Amino acid sequence: MVEAFAVASGKGGTGKTTSTLALGMALAEDYDVTVIDADTGMANLLFHAGLDDADVTLHDLLVDERDAAVSDAVYERFGMSVVPCGTSLAAFEAADPGRLRDVVAELAADTDVLLLDSPAALGSKSAVLPVVLADRIVVVLQPTVPSLSDGLKVQEYAHSYGTDTAGVVFNRVRPDENVDKIAEQAGRYFGGQTLASVPESDAVRAARREGKPLLAHAPEDPAADAFREAAARLDVRD
Ligand code: ADP
Ligand code: MG
Repeated sequence: MVEAFAVASGKGGTGKTTSTLALGMALAEDYDVTVIDADTGMANLLFHAGLDDADVTLHDLLVDERDAAVSDAVYERFGMSVVPCGTSLAAFEAADPGRLRDVVAELAADTDVLLLDSPAALGSKSAVLPVVLADRIVVVLQPTVPSLSDGLKVQEYAHSYGTDTAGVVFNRVRPDENVDKIAEQAGRYFGGQTLASVPESDAVRAARREGKPLLAHAPEDPAADAFREAAARLDVRD
């Protein structure tokens, strides 16, 4: 049975896209994984996955007169099926976000794990639908109280739609930062689970510049190890 995860956060720039691709590659060792850039307003997964010139994207599947098949927007990359989204504002405005439900249902029929790279803020249909459609959310946070507070709101929203919490990924953790205290607080509020503490890493930035997921660019990097640990802790249902 397919399990769908929304990779979410309160604010932008916490590392959702980085995490989506890293978790996807780690899970692809054991499962058929499909990654969708469901951040349709601020899509940039394509830049992280070498798909800048993808012809057909999720945007084409969300417009009214849909002449693209879902399979046209699926690209086999890095051992995963990747559905990028385009970056045009006009296409975003023309898109009907509600169609994401059908696209996800179609993709779900053909994969074990779906990862939805999700928009940051709540407040519009396109922003919340990925969280609503997922079985569980992975919340990507910086190890700070404000970030935790943002993440809690996302969780509250998710729970109100019956979406559970898989846990928290603390990202961009600096060497002098001790995440124990914040992890303990997060544990109390986020279903008890810190999935990983991912260090700030030059390899993450270099990977993006290369248009490759971290696990393809620098599989031995400590940040890659942390993401593999997070993927194992997800305990994906079979
Ligand atoms: P989001 O999708 O949440 O907006 P991204 O994954 O695009 O966030 O990351 C935002 C920026 O932060 C990117 O430039 C990315 O390379 C950088 N970044 C993310 N995680 C790390 C990390 N662990 N170490 C260093 N840079 C990171
Ligand atoms: Mg992103």
